[in-house]
Amino acid sequence: MREVAEDVFHLSLLPRDAVNAYLVGDVLVDAGYAALAKRVLKAVRGRAVARHVVTHAHVDHGGGSRKVAEALQVPVLAGERDVAAMRTGEMVVDLPGPLEKVVSRYGRFPGVPQTEPLAIGSEVGPGFVVLDTPGHSPGHVSLWRERDGVLICGDVVNTMSLVTTRPGLQEPPAIFTPDVARNRGSVRELAALEPRLVLAGHGPIVRDAAAPLAALAARLPQD
Ligand SMILES: [Zn+2]
Repeated sequence: MREVAEDVFHLSLLPRDAVNAYLVGDVLVDAGYAALAKRVLKAVRGRAVARHVVTHAHVDHGGGSRKVAEALQVPVLAGERDVAAMRTGEMVVDLPGPLEKVVSRYGRFPGVPQTEPLAIGSEVGPGFVVLDTPGHSPGHVSLWRERDGVLICGDVVNTMSLVTTRPGLQEPPAIFTPDVARNRGSVRELAALEPRLVLAGHGPIVRDAAAPLAALAARLPQD
């Protein structure tokens, strides 16, 4: 675990930062797959954790949440429209025919029945504000700290290709994004903030992120 901005720690849970979590003050953001929960717990050992926020109810972000919350005895919070999916461990999928079944099965994770809604606009940890950034999931939230331009964006953007692992800002895979057009809107809104540091769910941290994020937003199709 390393400090990447004031009171913001990066937990790289898989090689090449393929799956990330973050500790902001005493708030743990995301918990990776269920199999990675031990790694999360090891990383935060000896640190105060008071709350666990999940950017969105997907297996690779909330999969470890039940174990982590049980071990740390902390409340779990997610964007309001993702609370039901967090409670049941069944992500929202919108795909044609058999593909929907395959992705739904892959996406199943241990539900966290006590998940509570996280209010948009409320403050989390050391100066972060909760932003509503739907599309990749219905209730996807991001965390934004204006004073030093730090953005925790979950999967609104990936900073690596999940296929080749090559770094670079890009859209998340459409197959796991039930509303691609809405997610593009969220990308544009985040780009307008001109963040200095982008901390994504997948891929390395990106410094001087405003220009590459603006470039990504500019080349997205308008739909
Ligand atoms: Zn993800």
